[in-house]
Amino acid sequence: MKAKVAINGYGTIGKRVADAVAAQDDMEIAGVVKTRPSFEARIAMEKGFDLYASIEENIPEFKKSKIEISGTLEDLLEKVDIVIDATPGDTGEEYKKLYDKHGVKAIWQGGEDHELTGFSFNSEANYSDGMGRDFARVVSCNTTGLVRILYALDNAFGVKKARVTLMRRAADPNDIKTGPINALIPDPIKLPSHHGPDVNSILPDIDITTMAVKTSTTLMHLHALNIELKNNCIESDVIGVFEKRPRIRLVSSKDRIKSTAEAMEFAKDLGRPRGDMWENVVWKDSIAFSKGELYFFQAIHQESDVVPENVDAIRALLEMEKDGAKSIKKTNKAIGLMKSS
Ligand code: NAD
Repeated sequence: MKAKVAINGYGTIGKRVADAVAAQDDMEIAGVVKTRPSFEARIAMEKGFDLYASIEENIPEFKKSKIEISGTLEDLLEKVDIVIDATPGDTGEEYKKLYDKHGVKAIWQGGEDHELTGFSFNSEANYSDGMGRDFARVVSCNTTGLVRILYALDNAFGVKKARVTLMRRAADPNDIKTGPINALIPDPIKLPSHHGPDVNSILPDIDITTMAVKTSTTLMHLHALNIELKNNCIESDVIGVFEKRPRIRLVSSKDRIKSTAEAMEFAKDLGRPRGDMWENVVWKDSIAFSKGELYFFQAIHQESDVVPENVDAIRALLEMEKDGAKSIKKTNKAIGLMKSS
């Protein structure tokens, strides 16, 4: 029997998670919830996903647009094992009572606070802690990228302290309300930024401080990392560790990938759906030690790095697979995340 999954909030993250779930052989999309008719709703219907309206009053609007609706969110919750809540940040918490009422497990996204679920998830760092839980939060795109890197380095060499500057994309490419911007915005101005404490919601023992700047681009986030390690090592040791991780992709400027624009073009050329880059993109030739400290750059595709994490979180919460590494492998294979390609 396949696990039945609902998607509430079918936007940037929700539609990608829906496709990733549909690609797995042990889970299926039972329905997606839309607030209003749209091209995304129409395409979801054409893909064969059953559509549900968030509230009864909106159903006539869908009918007018000739988009078939199978019922309301509440009807869908009666049919599923778990819901992926990918509604806009701070909206998801409104639904907690409803999921509880229907006895459905739920996974929220990084726009919600850690306190909503009391458990923040990352596939590599704490899969087994998610086993059997009712609620989890997959951390934000930036935090997911930082946790992947710090977990790998901490396991291999011990992380003494990490200091990271995040250059954040101002808006997603399809966002006409927030961006692009003609400025560099220290965000937040009051330091440090929330990303460090968010990493600590998964890796509590890492000494990390972060600051962030919003930039006039929509393509990816760029992190400049400065890390002190406990054990001595050299550049090739760090490269060796990253090469073995399932969701870190090393690229090189010698291969003409010198920017986030080229990293995104690379993902498109790999034939990735929507041109997504699910892995952290780490510049191999940026990895350097100076005065005993490690430095490098990584880029994070904000629209997609959390997608495979949501699939693994489903397996953990529903206790479908005990071994996190096996879930990661299965998820990666099904969506086509093959690092050698
Ligand atoms: P989005 O705005 O692209 O999509 C949200 C979807 O939810 C839209 O389809 C919208 O119509 C729908 N929606 C709005 N109000 C709703 C409601 N009350 N009930 C049901 N659906 C509703 O947002 P997104 O970028 O996909 O973000 C979703 C979550 O993922 C947020 O918590 C966000 O912080 C997090 N996240 C976003 C990114 C990113 O860069 N886009 C990256 C990682 C995590």
